Amino acid sequence: MPILEMYRKTQERIAEACLRSGRDPGDVMLLAVSKTKPDEAIMELYDAGHRDFGENYVQELRGKHERLPADIRWHMIGHLQRNKVKYIADFVAMIHSVDSPELARTIEKEAAKHDRVIPVLIEVNVAGEETKFGVSPEEAVQLAEVIGTLPHVRLEGLMTSAPPVEDPSANRPVFRELRQLSVDMNLKNHNNYKVDFLSMGMSSDFEVAVEEGSACVRVGTSVFGEREYSRT
Ligand SMILES: *Cc1c(COP(=O)(O)O)cnc(C)c1O
Repeated sequence: MPILEMYRKTQERIAEACLRSGRDPGDVMLLAVSKTKPDEAIMELYDAGHRDFGENYVQELRGKHERLPADIRWHMIGHLQRNKVKYIADFVAMIHSVDSPELARTIEKEAAKHDRVIPVLIEVNVAGEETKFGVSPEEAVQLAEVIGTLPHVRLEGLMTSAPPVEDPSANRPVFRELRQLSVDMNLKNHNNYKVDFLSMGMSSDFEVAVEEGSACVRVGTSVFGEREYSRT
């Protein structure tokens, strides 16, 4: 199926999930996850007006940013090493994967060099999977307090990757828990942050994530087709 058709179908499925749950489709961002995909695939969506793309690997992200139109909003969604922040700090639109105070402080330092404020999300390992990146819900509260003190880093929300499951609704409790955590954190909030932007839902479960309050679904396979090789 052509990419544009898969993209439209994905948009429709998001809109239907919004309808089912009484949400406004305008409140859900479709982040097209373009990792391992060629520039031409990205440009097909770009020419159709799409601007938000997600990447996992710093080198690939930097290269695509340099080659492709400047008004693309690039989101870093993969695990980020501190020594690589400098390669994306001048252009990245949002970092979804902040998982330590040290990483937050490095982002602060690099963002300051470019005189910009970088929007970030805290990656939360809701399901408590051992192999996953991300902090526990308790650590998220502490990390938010740290980020609240950093002038060049703006905390906008939370991100999670739910485990791969056959039945998408099996991940409903994960999405619910992230949403509940955001409600709790907004109530606690000592540093004037609001963690309203929830990045959750992938190809296998994005409709359930939308029903549970996702503000940003990160969809790769359903938009671009299968990736040729796994790099995760
Ligand atoms: C690859 C990836 C996605 C997209 O996965 P699909 O199943 O292809 O939709 C979303 N989020 C993260 C963090 C990823 O690494």
